[in-house]
Amino acid sequence: MKNQEVEFKTYLKNYPDAKGYFGQYGGSYLSAELQAAMDEITEAYHTICKSTRFISELRRIRREFQGRPTPISHLERLSNKIGTGVQLYVKREDLNHTGAHKLNHCMGEVLLAKYMGKKKVIAETGAGQHGVALATAAAYFGLECDIYMGAVDIKKQAPNVARMKILGARVIEVTDGLQTLKEAVDAAFMAYFEDYKNAIYCIGSVVGPHPFPMMVRDFQNVVGVEAREQFLGMTGELPDAVVACVGGGSNSVGIFSGFLDDPVDLYGVEPLGRGTELGDHAASLSYGEEGIMHGFNSIMLKDEEGEPAPVYSVASGLDYPSSGPEHAFLRDIGRVKYDVVGDEDAVNAFFELSRMEGIIPAIESSHAVAYAMQLAKTMGKGSVLIHLSGRGDKDMDYIIEKYGIR
Ligand SMILES: *Cc1c(COP(=O)(O)O)cnc(C)c1O
Repeated sequence: MKNQEVEFKTYLKNYPDAKGYFGQYGGSYLSAELQAAMDEITEAYHTICKSTRFISELRRIRREFQGRPTPISHLERLSNKIGTGVQLYVKREDLNHTGAHKLNHCMGEVLLAKYMGKKKVIAETGAGQHGVALATAAAYFGLECDIYMGAVDIKKQAPNVARMKILGARVIEVTDGLQTLKEAVDAAFMAYFEDYKNAIYCIGSVVGPHPFPMMVRDFQNVVGVEAREQFLGMTGELPDAVVACVGGGSNSVGIFSGFLDDPVDLYGVEPLGRGTELGDHAASLSYGEEGIMHGFNSIMLKDEEGEPAPVYSVASGLDYPSSGPEHAFLRDIGRVKYDVVGDEDAVNAFFELSRMEGIIPAIESSHAVAYAMQLAKTMGKGSVLIHLSGRGDKDMDYIIEKYGIR
């Protein structure tokens, strides 16, 4: 795989292939009946994404409702403090409506649902970020929205549960097993299976069976396209490096996809949590192995039985035992370098960016900020563009309670 020749000029057209594979990763591993429902979505997407009405409506929504394009900000004080001459910049998805990048693919997915004549969208949520973004999109388009959420997560994430309910979504409590994300995924898939004529399943990242990794990537590509043009406009050059955090992998694939054909180093940052022991982190691409879960083949963290291992990170948006198949592929061909940042460094970066720049980052994005700061210290000169995937308002109470003010 390492020596595979990949033509990046035509990359977005050629990957994934017709069956949803990026190299050996991706695909769709489902029962025949669910596969039929997925094929319906794939077919509709291929037709609709070429329609000028769909494209112009999505563009209008991004401009008038989401507030796109989001700006790039130069981190002048932080760059000066690091002092190597390297200049840091952030792509501000914290300023996208609802405060994170997730709305980019949710608006696309629900617009697709509307074009397909569906009445309802179904999804699971862990920390509630995907649920809130999807509930927002469903409210905008006037579709019903059912969000499946583990009972444990419902208790932990009261503000997001309230947001979803205010936005008109139904939050359905899942009381099986550990009562968290994995059980919620299973329950949401079951509900979709029973109602697939009327409803569409909306995944929260570049994971799951084909066509989701492709669709979500395509909807997030707007971030990379904007960022490339804006960065060139601001500085007259491309950045030397682009850094983004990787949970399922949607924000990182979005920004990377704008720079694949450029001489720009791409870094994906995984959460090392408390350390390298299995169960203490969620760095699947760094420590995992190939395997199939949730209907797709990728790199995953496995327990002794080969099942998805328990994972941990201070950033609940990053604690998923796998990552999108496209990341596994980009890793193997050597186009993106994956590395890790632990809880402590992420929390320090959370405070550093807030103090030095007046931007409170999501704790997920803080992993990318921490890594970019380390990178800037080793580089000597040049520029680094960080994907600031979201704002940190949702994390403030927990961080102050657990770590105090730093
Ligand atoms: C959900 C989330 C992430 C992680 O998801 P990806 O699919 O890896 O992007 C990162 N940052 C924020 C702010 C999130 O809400």
